[in-house]
Amino acid sequence: MGQIVVKFGGTSVADIDRIRAAAATVKAEVERGHQVAVVVSAMAGVTNDLVALTRDANPLHDAREYDAVVATGEQATSGLLALCLQQMGVSARSWQGWQIPIRTDDVHGKARILGVETEDLASRLADNQVCVVAGFQGLGPDNRITTLGRGGSDTTAVALSAALSADRCDIYTDVDGVYTSDPRIVTRARKLDKITYEEMLEMASLGAKVLQTRSVQLAMGHSVPLQVLSSFDGAVGSDLPGTLVVAEEEIVEQEIVSGVTYSRDEAKITLLQVPDRPGVAAAIFGPLSDANVNVDMIVQNVSEDGSATDLTFTVSRGELDRALEVLEACKGELGFAASVPDANVVKLSVVGVGMRTHAGVAKRMFSALAEHNINILVISTSEIKISVLIAEEFTELALRALHTAYGLDAA
Ligand code: ASP
Ligand code: MG
Repeated sequence: MGQIVVKFGGTSVADIDRIRAAAATVKAEVERGHQVAVVVSAMAGVTNDLVALTRDANPLHDAREYDAVVATGEQATSGLLALCLQQMGVSARSWQGWQIPIRTDDVHGKARILGVETEDLASRLADNQVCVVAGFQGLGPDNRITTLGRGGSDTTAVALSAALSADRCDIYTDVDGVYTSDPRIVTRARKLDKITYEEMLEMASLGAKVLQTRSVQLAMGHSVPLQVLSSFDGAVGSDLPGTLVVAEEEIVEQEIVSGVTYSRDEAKITLLQVPDRPGVAAAIFGPLSDANVNVDMIVQNVSEDGSATDLTFTVSRGELDRALEVLEACKGELGFAASVPDANVVKLSVVGVGMRTHAGVAKRMFSALAEHNINILVISTSEIKISVLIAEEFTELALRALHTAYGLDAA
């Protein structure tokens, strides 16, 4: 018996039948003696529609009014889920972000949660009432509705769990957990029973769409035990059928590598003949950052005679044109010979906390790619991640090869 927060994503509340199924899951937890707070997303597709409406109304929209509009998707599902629960004989009421309140900063459209006042919720939970909280929304300092950025309901759920000191936060979605790789490509990918916060954070920022990155950071910071599980197979969270995201100490048999991920949202730019002098990197990356272009991987070689060298780096594909424009504008000043773009690249990453203590992890990656004649264009590493950039046409082959090389294939 304990207190749990359960969150249902958009596909898990896509219509009244799905909302009823979610209510049945909540009821099952209540019947096991748990106090349950629920966080809901908007019905699948609704937030996109609302965003489109705001654009239609006024392309240069006031972000405060944008938030007032897009927050309504969650308001609807919170009320609908409370109604379904009541119909099943479960005591429940809905809560909007401003009613709790969930306090945020004033960055409309991408606000950060500053605090959750849990007094009222806690007393309702103690009375065994299910609290159905609209995810994604909060209350700004000027008393206006804010939203937390796309995918922000995950963050609502984790923040609520932290504030309530809940025993667990279950994130119900349309996949049954976190996989060692993308099962659509790597057919022998396995569902992980457990993964560490740090690994999940890397995977989320590398594009694994299961959790909003911010929610994983928050869970890690507050040690909230998270579970990712499917709402489509009737699973009840307390049976622990999904993937648990936990601290490293809680994983007994840690694999060296937990996952192999990929991101197609990459483009490579090579600057030829960049003068090799102090300040040149700052002169290149400064204007890019001023133009809000995020640079990810960077390689620079030493020049043979100290005069000029090539510099290669990656940006997200959508920002390639902007990056090239910025570079062309300061080409004369920077003094490089040419910029060569390549959008047909993909970034593969292997992630695992075991890398900290095991040697040879990178070598295994490079050998596996070499065996398949796949050329590595750029390499970057962090403490628990190795990433390589390769030509996009090799994505599937490389993913499968790495999955096998690290012993991740399902039996
Ligand atoms: N409904 C919001 C979105 O689609 C928030 C969420 O679902 O987490 O981004
Ligand atoms: Mg989501």
